[in-house]
Amino acid sequence: MDYLKELNTPQLQAVQHTDGPVMIIAGAGSGKTRVLTYRIAHLIYSRGIDPFNILSLTFTNKAAAEMKHRIETLVGLEARNTWMGTFHSIFAKILRVESAKLGYPSNFTIYDTDDSKSLIRTLVKEMRLDDKVYKANVVLSRISGAKNRLLGWKAYQDDPYVKADDEAAMKPRMGEIYQRYQDRLFKAGAMDFDDLLFNTNVLFRDHLDVLNKYQQRFKYVMVDEFQDTNISQYLITKKLAAVHQNICVVGDDAQSIYAFRGADIQNILNFEKDYPDLFVVKLEQNYRSTKTIVEAANSIIDKNKAQLKKVVWTSNPDGELIELIKAASDNEEGRIVANIIFEEKNNKKLNNSDFAILYRTNSQSRSMEEALRKMNLNYKIVGGLSFYQRKEIKDLMAYMRFTVNPVDEEAFKRVINYPKRGIGDTSVDKILVGAYEHDMPLWDVVQNAHSFLGGKAGSSVDNFSTMIKAFQIEVERKDAFEAASIIAKQSGLLRELYEDKTIEGLNRYENVQELLNAIKEYVDNPENEDKSLGSFLQEIALLTDNDQDKDKTDAITLMTVHASKGLEFKQVFVVGMEEDLFPSQMMMQSRDDLEEERRLFYVASTRAMEKLYLTYALSRYRFGRLLNCEPSRFLEEVNPNMIKVNKRVASKEMPGALRKEGLPGSSGFIGIKRQPESRQPIQLKIHTPTPDFKPSNTNNLKAEQLVEHPKFGFGKVQKIETEGLNKKATIQFEHFGEKTLLLSFAKLRII
Ligand code: ATP
Ligand code: MG
Repeated sequence: MDYLKELNTPQLQAVQHTDGPVMIIAGAGSGKTRVLTYRIAHLIYSRGIDPFNILSLTFTNKAAAEMKHRIETLVGLEARNTWMGTFHSIFAKILRVESAKLGYPSNFTIYDTDDSKSLIRTLVKEMRLDDKVYKANVVLSRISGAKNRLLGWKAYQDDPYVKADDEAAMKPRMGEIYQRYQDRLFKAGAMDFDDLLFNTNVLFRDHLDVLNKYQQRFKYVMVDEFQDTNISQYLITKKLAAVHQNICVVGDDAQSIYAFRGADIQNILNFEKDYPDLFVVKLEQNYRSTKTIVEAANSIIDKNKAQLKKVVWTSNPDGELIELIKAASDNEEGRIVANIIFEEKNNKKLNNSDFAILYRTNSQSRSMEEALRKMNLNYKIVGGLSFYQRKEIKDLMAYMRFTVNPVDEEAFKRVINYPKRGIGDTSVDKILVGAYEHDMPLWDVVQNAHSFLGGKAGSSVDNFSTMIKAFQIEVERKDAFEAASIIAKQSGLLRELYEDKTIEGLNRYENVQELLNAIKEYVDNPENEDKSLGSFLQEIALLTDNDQDKDKTDAITLMTVHASKGLEFKQVFVVGMEEDLFPSQMMMQSRDDLEEERRLFYVASTRAMEKLYLTYALSRYRFGRLLNCEPSRFLEEVNPNMIKVNKRVASKEMPGALRKEGLPGSSGFIGIKRQPESRQPIQLKIHTPTPDFKPSNTNNLKAEQLVEHPKFGFGKVQKIETEGLNKKATIQFEHFGEKTLLLSFAKLRII
């Protein structure tokens, strides 16, 4: 059959070695997913295997759909009958059939995260616990972590280490909440996402007849992106394949990026132990990217200590050098990216869908989206909502809208009881109906609500309207940024998000900060004469409104690096290549975390087929202040022969303060000598720390003390400040000038 000609020798071996365990651990773009696809086609076409007997587990539903489509083109419609999907979707399907064995109804509900959190809130209330301590998000992520390690509530309660952990976190009743949570789910005939895997494990452990049935059914089991499976997923696949042993896993340890969700790279190592007669295939040729990109990616991942050594090469052409682009600010970064896409589309006759913009955190989409909208370039956000559609942004915007226009009913409904202030739906309805029936402006009714609501709800609405009136005074007197900051804080919204320390919560907090940053930039831009909050709201409403009738089929893809796994695009922009952003400050507590960030950078870079751009901004508004940014350490790690530094100039709208050249950072923080358009290696001048560099305990660091920083070298402490839980030191460095650093991250050595 012809399709076998579309494979190289090791790929062909992997496809033809259909029986017995097979593992392919190979670098990005080497055809791992292609091998799985062709393998399935081969099983059906050449080996006559019934598609019903083949199970393939993918990382996203989209990947499954694409693979199915490809197999169909190879072997025909019959391919539709293979079992293919994510772990969650496949095992939900099986659990539906087998639910009675676990005491669940066959039409059990699957609770999404919001449902789960709402149930936890109810339980915390019923148990009369402090909902500030037992925050729904935090509790849920603890329970989820336990389930992913296959720790049921009983085992959880009996485990002394878990108990000690919870006690240290001042949450001694966590185990009890877990128990009640499971009990209530069960009574409601519901499973949460993690239960789908947890209960599958229980099903296969306790009902060998059921296990046997599926072992017989799935004669062939395949797993893509194996490096990101957790122990619960691993055990399921292992059990299923135990009889036939026809299991084929493909992955790349260098692309393991979900450790925070329990993914365990150990699974790769265990696999070799579990299957002594394993057939291991190495794929070394990359078909996706140019030589330049492949070599750059190799140089990045080389810096990681923890990795299985692999060779990746390509016979593709050299291609263009990677472009390193410096922007004065995040908004300028957006404009430069949009300009390049516009030019490249015209010059090379490319489609929007040939481009992807990848960022480390969701909040970065804002400046990109605005620039693309202004240039009228079609885009879509994959795996997330566009910035102004996100709940926390809509909430804060609703507060601002209601303050400026207190008859805005939709805004009112969003904020009247968020954060919770004891105003139930019935009270809200009474207010709305009152306004309607008496044909009175909403705001008048709100101000008089105590007269017909009474009790706690009445006084809560009173407090609410007093608060809004106070906001209105601020809006009159202050500029948009100052007013918005007051609204974010005093409404309780910022605190609500700040207290939520889960990854999701941090994300939302960052998004709100990013909205405040956008407002600050708006105020600081000399071209905006009216600096009021009302005028800002109007600008945003106009910007976000021209969305409706756009054709979304040909769109630029915007997404986080995490979401980009397995995909490929002709041109890729990795934006926000700055210290503390990428690598992310939030996620970095140890060397392992740095290595995970580096793997993310490797994933990002290897999505590009023809051209890769790395961009960074010299300044970015964070926490309402214009902060200087330092280029990411990762930029120094890319093989300099593969990069050219390009000075792109964006359109005119640079914020005034940044128009001049030579502002913060441009003298080369990382010592990169800007060599426009040259193929010369970039020269790095970095302070080399003393070989036995060990950070000191800096809790008691004082002004005037001398310190050494691994990157900035020697400096003298100017002052120490405390902001929230963080201590910051302002340090005058010998060669890098004054810098303010967070002590918990700064890795300083006291001299
Ligand atoms: P990742 O690690 O990013 O998931 P991968 O190893 O799964 O990458 P694929 O996506 O399967 O790689 O392949 C990368 C690209 O190379 C795809 O466009 C694929 O069609 C192409 N490709 C793979 N093998 C060959 C081959 N033998 N001949 C031609 N093209 C190939
Ligand atoms: Mg792949």
